[in-house]
Amino acid sequence: METVLLIEDDRSLARELSAKIQGAGYKCVCASDARSGLEAFKQGGVELVLLDLGLPDRDGEHVLEVIRASSAVPIVGLTARRTGNDKVKALDAGADDYVVKPVWSGELLARIRAVLRRSGGVNAQKATEEVVRFGQVTVWMGKHRVEVAGRDVHLTPTEMGLLLIFVRRRGQALSRERLMDAVLGPDGGALEALQSHVSRLRKKLGADGTRIETLWGVGYRLRVDADPEEG
Ligand code: CA
Repeated sequence: METVLLIEDDRSLARELSAKIQGAGYKCVCASDARSGLEAFKQGGVELVLLDLGLPDRDGEHVLEVIRASSAVPIVGLTARRTGNDKVKALDAGADDYVVKPVWSGELLARIRAVLRRSGGVNAQKATEEVVRFGQVTVWMGKHRVEVAGRDVHLTPTEMGLLLIFVRRRGQALSRERLMDAVLGPDGGALEALQSHVSRLRKKLGADGTRIETLWGVGYRLRVDADPEEG
């Protein structure tokens, strides 16, 4: 039986969703804030995380980032807000999908099934070994490790954050605003800062650095070959 971890501070919603999830044949573990949610995740055995992005103690993006630092477990965000910015933030921080409240349980269960199917039903342990290769670059998504032509390359946290977003959204145009918001935060948001992080990242990727293309007036895109995914 696959285990779903539900992190949601609205107790009555949590009860309702947990009953539906169990009714659909999954095991459901509930936590009502970020701290206990992360604690429950560390116990292991979680195949999917349903994460309310508006928690009382820490914001949802923080929880996403902490889980993503060690695991590629599928995460579905629950958000009360319909603004596109929240969705972008959740997806940039590593969510696989998101559902807007009020949650219709039929839709939620369909998303859970789809996300688990995409992840191949792998357990969290196995999923931490997700590896993406393009050109001579190998990226261990969960371990935040990068090799170029077989050699370990040290990236700063900002460069690593950029690379992970480029890799997750490979082939897609990413706006400068979205990248600045995701990796530089509200205070570090100067365009020149983003440009210099990207330029250092390109250098560290060697010949494959040219795959990070500048889209003039828009942002950047990681150009990849047909199917770079492995592992
Ligand atoms: Ca909430």
